[in-house]
This record gives sequence, C-alpha cells and structure tokens, in this order.
Amino acid sequence: MPKYIRSGRLQQIPPYLFAEISRKVEQAKKSGVDVISLGIGDPDMPTPKHIVDELGRAANDPRNHQYPDYEGLLEFREAVASWYKRRHNVSLDPVSEVLTLIGSKEGSLHLSLAFVNPGDYALVPNPCYTPYRTGTLLANGLVHDLPLLEANDFLPQLGRIPREVVKKAKILYVSYPNNPTTAVAGKEFYREVVDFARDNSMIVCSDNPYSEIAFDGYRPLSFLEVPGAKEVGVELNSLSKPYNMTGWRIGMAVGSEDIISAIATVKNNVDSGVFNGVQRAAITALLKTPDSEIDRLNSIYQKRRDLVYETLTGVGIAVRKPRATFYMWCRVPEGHTSASFAALMLEKAGVVVTPGAAYGSYGEGYFRVSVTVPDARLEEAMQRIRKALK
Ligand SMILES: *Cc1c(COP(=O)(O)O)cnc(C)c1O
Repeated sequence: MPKYIRSGRLQQIPPYLFAEISRKVEQAKKSGVDVISLGIGDPDMPTPKHIVDELGRAANDPRNHQYPDYEGLLEFREAVASWYKRRHNVSLDPVSEVLTLIGSKEGSLHLSLAFVNPGDYALVPNPCYTPYRTGTLLANGLVHDLPLLEANDFLPQLGRIPREVVKKAKILYVSYPNNPTTAVAGKEFYREVVDFARDNSMIVCSDNPYSEIAFDGYRPLSFLEVPGAKEVGVELNSLSKPYNMTGWRIGMAVGSEDIISAIATVKNNVDSGVFNGVQRAAITALLKTPDSEIDRLNSIYQKRRDLVYETLTGVGIAVRKPRATFYMWCRVPEGHTSASFAALMLEKAGVVVTPGAAYGSYGEGYFRVSVTVPDARLEEAMQRIRKALK
C-alpha cells in the first residue's frame, strides 16, 4: 500500500500502457525468451550524425550553459517557421506563433492546464494516443469520447456530439496521420474542423508528429494549411519521429498567437524550457538535413510495412495498408480480444504487439504493430508469427 493518498486527478489515470507492456516483456525475458517488441513507436535508427555533432559543439560553448528562455531560442523558432514554410507552405511569425516544447507530449498537458476548468469537456478521439485523455484528467477536465470507426475512415463525426457537451467543450483533439489507426485526413475534414471550432468557440489541438512519415508519394497535411486554422487552433509537432530524436525531447507548438502565449505562460511557471544545446542541434536538424534523408527513412519504413502487410494478410489477419505513420492497425482474429491476442503473440511467438483496447474502448478488436525495429529483427518476428499462427 502506498503511504500517501494520491490526488483524485492522479487516481483517475490508468497505468501507463507501455509501462505494463515493459513489465510483461521483462518477465518473459527473465524466463529466457528472446522477445522482439513491436509494441513501441520509437525509431530504431540513430539521429543523423551532423545533428549529434552540432550538439557536441553546442555543449562545449558556455553560452549555452545557462537557463534557456522559456519560449525557446528565437533562432529555433525561426528555424521552425522556415521548416513549416518549406514542408507545408504554412507561414508563421516566429515570435508570436511558435513555441519550443520539451517534445510535443508536453504541449498537450500544458494546453489543458492553460484552458480547461473543472467541468469543461475536451473532445477526445477513441482510440487515441493516451496523453490527450490523461492530460485532460490531470487538468480536472471531463473527457468526451469521439469514436473513431473504420466505417468512417477513423474520422470523428462532429455532428453527432450532444449539444450540451459541445457547449461545455473547450478543446477538440485531432491527430492525422493517426496513431494508432494510421488513418489520414484531407483538406475537407480540416475545413469541417475549423468551421466547427469557430462556430462553437472551441480550441483545436492538431497533434501532428507523423506529418513527415508517409509512403507511396503521399504527403500528409498540416492542419494549418486550411484557411482560418490559425485563428482557432494550434498544431503540436516534433523532431522525434522525422529526425530520430525521441530521446532529445524537443518539439514545437505553432498556430494561434493567443493560444501559444497561454501555453507559454504555463511553461514559464512549470519548466524552464529546453537546453540551448539541444535547441541548437534541432536548428541544424530542421535547416541542414536534406529532405532526401526523410525520404530515405520513409523508404525503409515502407519496405517494412510491406513485409508486415504480406505476412499478416498471409495468415488471415485483416490489416490496413497505411499511407503514413510507422504503425500497422490490424484486426484481431475471431474469438480473441485485443488483450488475449497480444498475450498469445507474446507466449507463442515472443513478439510484443499492442492491444488496441489500450488506446480506448473503440480500439477493442484491433492490435497495433510498430515497424521501428531493425530489418533483421522484423523478419525474424514475421517468421515466428507465420509459424505460430499457421
Ligand atoms: C510519438 C508521439 C508523440 C510524442 O512526441 P514527442 O515530441 O516525442 O513528445 C505525440 N503524439 C503522438 C500521436 C505520437 O505518436
């Protein structure tokens, strides 16, 4: 028994999904199983060398050793603005419309702390990346689920939200390309989102860390590419996925000046920003990495996607072939729940997949595979799955 009673808001938080998976994996490893984890979306390839070298240089410069500005180096925010222009043709004022984040995950909690009062709703997709939900709960807000159904291409039906919820809703979360469903969204959808938010005085939070991870020539959109988006929302983005920098903890919030400055006020009182050395290296990442490097990573993920697609469809599992993200969202075979199937995969194949229910009740019936493991390990995992499910 814990000695101190946890706050009500913390007691509402279910155990962190990946912490539970890690625990199961540790158990299996202890009993001698060579576990292959396809459970976590964390790029297996290293950060490009020119970025690491820039961190080394910056770390040796004493000017980078003091507290950073909480809103981030102006040069970093300028690099973000120039990157958004180059990659998405979105114009941003680096001073008022860009904020440095300690990874985009941080941004969603601080957005909630900035805007959600007890009794306010956040409209949260189900299934979803769990911090939208937990961030809302930590801010003492209420979660209203937006079911993401395969029949609707995993897009929420905004017209179905009850009137009294809409009235009390402060934030609408959208995230495409989507983790975990791998669905993508087009301009039409974002136009609907902007109109809905404007009509109902709501903030849109577009979480877009996979904006660069895509295949077959598909280019994901930024929410801010749609007219009016900047007036009603922010986009969270990150260097984690396109530059293999998950461990570095650097991302950005971009969009509405009003919303950006509120998040900045929270941050000024909670954290003191990102180490300037990391920001300097991130500037190098955004400005000095040829875009062909992102294409190279994507072609590696695409080959892996094709291997997993072939293997799983070959053993009778229904899989969506994703156009973006490094995940596969797959149907659990008849007679299984997502948890029982994930347990079977660990037991029979020594392979970790994530049960869909871990992302919300509408994830039941699915499991997620991440292709962020080296080719040889992925091939081995696929061989084992073929054998186990024959
Ligand atoms: C990976 C991921 C993030 C986290 O990005 P960080 O910048 O590393 O915090 C945010 N949202 C989604 C949906 C993700 O999959």
